Amino acid sequence: MILPIVLYGDPVLRTKGKPVTEVTDEVRRLAADMLETMYDARGVGLAAQQIGVAIQLAVVDVSHDPQCISYLRVNDVDTPMAELMPLVFINPKLDFGKPKAMSEEGCLSFPDLRENIRRPSDVKATLTLLDGRTIVLETDGLLSRAIQHETDHLNGILFIDRVSAAAKIGMKRRLREKQEDWADEIHRGISPTKPKPRKKGEVDEDEEE
Ligand code: ZN
Repeated sequence: MILPIVLYGDPVLRTKGKPVTEVTDEVRRLAADMLETMYDARGVGLAAQQIGVAIQLAVVDVSHDPQCISYLRVNDVDTPMAELMPLVFINPKLDFGKPKAMSEEGCLSFPDLRENIRRPSDVKATLTLLDGRTIVLETDGLLSRAIQHETDHLNGILFIDRVSAAAKIGMKRRLREKQEDWADEIHRGISPTKPKPRKKGEVDEDEEE
C-alpha cells in the first residue's frame, strides 16, 4: 500500500525512532508498504518517520545504479549488490571511515530541494534484517550515503542539518520558499508525489475557503 509521505515541518521527522525489539508481521507489512511508497516516489531510501512512525526501520534500494559503489562486504565477504537489494534494515549502528565526499542530496520529505552534503565516504553498518539476522555491512558511494541519510532520519536528524555553515543562508531561503508550497499541499491533504487528479471543470476547493 502506498502511504502518504510526511513533509518537513511535521514533528515526527524530529523524533528519534524506538528500537524494534521483534520483527512482527506488522513490521514486515510496514516495510513492504515503505518499499512500495519509496518506489512510487522514485526515491532511493525511506525511513519510518517519513510515513509517520517513529521506529528504527528504514528501506534503501540503489540497484538502479550498480556502479554507484566500489565495494560491498557483508560480514567480511565480498557480496554482489543485487543480493542485498532492496535493503530493509532495523536498529542501525554506524562507524565511519576518515575520507569525506561532497555530493548533492535530496529527500522525499523535502520535495524539489537539493543540497550539497559532505559525509564520510565509507560506512561500516551493523544492521538487523527482516529475517532477524544481524549483519555487518561495509560499503561506499551512494549506498553508504543512503544508509547514512536514512540512519540520520531514524535519529531525528535531517539532511538540512548537515549543510555547511557557508551554504546554510542560501539553503534557508530556498527552504522557506518551498515550505509555502508544501504547506498548501498538506492543507489540501495530498501527497506531493501523488497529485490529486482533478475532474474536468472542477473548481479549486481551496479558493472557496
Ligand atoms: Zn530523507
